Amino acid sequence: MHPHTRARHWDGSPATTTPRRRLRVAPTSPSRLLRTGQNGHCRDCGNRIDWYPRSNHRPIALHPQEVATHAVADSCRWHLSGGIAYRHADATAWCRIPHTVLCPRHTSDRPLGPDIEALRRHLALHTRRLIDTGTFTPPTTPTCNLTPARLTRTPERPVVQILYTRYLADRPLTSIQCVAQTRQRRRCPHPILNPAAPTGTWILTPAHPIRPGQLALPDTPMALYDLSHLPYAEQLRWRAQRCPAHAATASAPDLTLPGWQRFDPLTHHPHIHACLPDTAPAAQEA
Ligand SMILES: [Zn+2]
Ligand SMILES: [Zn+2]
Repeated sequence: MHPHTRARHWDGSPATTTPRRRLRVAPTSPSRLLRTGQNGHCRDCGNRIDWYPRSNHRPIALHPQEVATHAVADSCRWHLSGGIAYRHADATAWCRIPHTVLCPRHTSDRPLGPDIEALRRHLALHTRRLIDTGTFTPPTTPTCNLTPARLTRTPERPVVQILYTRYLADRPLTSIQCVAQTRQRRRCPHPILNPAAPTGTWILTPAHPIRPGQLALPDTPMALYDLSHLPYAEQLRWRAQRCPAHAATASAPDLTLPGWQRFDPLTHHPHIHACLPDTAPAAQEA
């Protein structure tokens, strides 16, 4: 055998394979995700959405396709740069648009223009098709009966107050899972609710709008899982959606975006419960 002959397959391709490059998050990356956009489906209408982090790390669901900038109102124009979503267009003829503007389950309070209205109708038809074929079941509006005065279990999507900001969770408190990647490159299976750590408390608080200039709503009480009394680091851990072990391990990247949505009493009114849950989530966990 010739000394310079390398081992090759029958088709001439080299038998030795180059080692696979590990996927890493650059220390200077503004996002801790291993990929830029996270695909998903809107819980309310079943249409496709792409999740992107904003510069303040809060995620936003954008419509997967670009739309002509001239057809979109200034306030609804977004663009992507380096995997981060920024408000306003970037001087090109195309821009991205938040899904909430198009979602047929959300009512729009502003004129959208004929092109965007057509796109909304298109998504509404798609939702109808998904429902008709049994592919998608729209969420039923949770009802809260005031008698008996307490819910029998924790809400499906609780409102949680972290660092004086209200967030709507995407699942029950006990099911909120750590977003970090383990050494086996899987998502960490641990919940962020840690019975060993100080837990939050359920309180009833007015469900008033937080943003100034919003319409004043009737002062209905709302059940809220309040973490305000926890140490700052513990509240950061909740907001980053990491288990205690991964909160201490900054080198582990996030495998997905945290499921928090900034709570808006107008759009999230189906998730407002006017009564406290019967059991504390930590007790349910035990
Ligand atoms: Zn939707
Ligand atoms: Zn973890």
